Amino acid sequence: MAYDSNNIFARILRGEIPCRKAYEDDHVLAFHDIHPQAPTHILVIPKGAYVSAADFGATASDAEIAAFTRAVSRIAAEAGVEGSGYRLISNHGPDSHQEVPHYHVHILGGRQLGRLVTPL
Ligand code: 5GP
Repeated sequence: MAYDSNNIFARILRGEIPCRKAYEDDHVLAFHDIHPQAPTHILVIPKGAYVSAADFGATASDAEIAAFTRAVSRIAAEAGVEGSGYRLISNHGPDSHQEVPHYHVHILGGRQLGRLVTPL
């Protein structure tokens, strides 16, 4: 899938749409989800143009991948959910219901999150 530079997270990165920022460095931006599913619900995105986890894992540089992984851990710790626990979710493609086609990881915490997926 080609990257759509008009997706909502690309527009947030360009400053065209506001966000409640949680963290930023050279490679990464993190902000609070507009429809939080838990007391802590932060979205972590790379600044590079990657559609999803598959694209990021296959084509991002080692520096981007390292920065992203370290940022996720740091953001969760700074959000105060490292002790109580948290869940990382990254949706890729139609079966996952990925809504925004710019790679992102959800950090969810601050409550009991239940089972990994809803039983069928
Ligand atoms: P996905 O289903 O793609 O994994 O998750 C996309 C997430 O982006 C959803 O949880 C949704 O609430 C969030 N989202 C969509 N549009 C916006 C927006 O304009 N601002 C923020 N902060 N979050 C958004």
